[in-house]
Amino acid sequence: MEKIFENLVKDAKHILIISHVNPDGDTLGSMCAMYSAILTQYKKKSEMLVPSAIPGIYNFLPNIEKVKILSEFDKSREYDLVITVDVAALDRILEAQILFDKAKHTVNFDHHQTNINFGEVNFVEPHACSCGEVVFKIFEKLGWQINKDTADALYTAILTDTGGFRFENTNPASLEIASKLVAIGVVPKEIYNNCYESKTKSVVMFQNYAVANAHFSEDEKIAYSVILRKDIEKFGVKDSATDGIAETLRSIISTQISFVIKEIDSKTCKVSMRSKKEDVSKICEVFGGGGHKYAAGCTIKLPIKEAVKKLLQEINHEKN
Ligand code: AMP
Ligand code: MN
Ligand code: MN
Repeated sequence: MEKIFENLVKDAKHILIISHVNPDGDTLGSMCAMYSAILTQYKKKSEMLVPSAIPGIYNFLPNIEKVKILSEFDKSREYDLVITVDVAALDRILEAQILFDKAKHTVNFDHHQTNINFGEVNFVEPHACSCGEVVFKIFEKLGWQINKDTADALYTAILTDTGGFRFENTNPASLEIASKLVAIGVVPKEIYNNCYESKTKSVVMFQNYAVANAHFSEDEKIAYSVILRKDIEKFGVKDSATDGIAETLRSIISTQISFVIKEIDSKTCKVSMRSKKEDVSKICEVFGGGGHKYAAGCTIKLPIKEAVKKLLQEINHEKN
């Protein structure tokens, strides 16, 4: 199947690589790796597209400055090949679906168990730690050259989706690939510093506020933080500042399920859910979302108070 992908790349004149909304290190790292691998192998410049703003910490990724944002993108364009990376479902690329639907060919690289193989060609491996792992394996099978730029981007994808090689998805493949990438020239400390020690003061203050004001079920097995629009505005942070709060709440010994619910507008909320044992992707699927067993998300079209109530009901229903 990888040969089909290679031929599509060879034959395509215009290639577009798309990441998911609220982009994280895996989708951005996989996208930048795909860009630089195609450039190295075929001297072809692809275009890169994000559906929403890139968190500032990822500005170190090679070629990230070439990424265009959907709100400023010409959606009338037609591409020979559209590649999605780390996109669990097509609604995660928002209106970029127009570009996907119009493309002559589509390839879907992903590792979410809820992915329905929406591409013409699909590389979906639910057991892979990250999309970066899926992408690396295809490059390796094809014998594509992995230079320092590609390696830095892939290492970022694997590092961030394994939570710094700590989560349950840290497997022999993720460590083996990381080792190969370090041999190519990746400096782990540099990528670590960029991903985990480059937060702005306001983000740290905001996250501490969110944790200090968290709610707990009576048995303290459910921990959650409710983030209102006005909180985000008060601290002057971007929406991505909520990344990591659900993990902090899960780190409490009594917590079984944690979540962060963020008000997007008066009728829309975004949920990030984490667990130690329960399959939270099932809970998020009830609300039209998905993800992985221990890390999932969804968007709920309700005012935040009602959404919290519905979520707690669903969690209690699932747990009992
Ligand atoms: P997040 O909480 O946004 O960090 O997402 C946790 C995991 O769930 C990631 O792997 C996401 O790709 C996935 N995810 C988040 N929201 C959705 C959604 N609406 N549909 C499918 N997967 C999602
Ligand atoms: Mn992701
Ligand atoms: Mn991922």
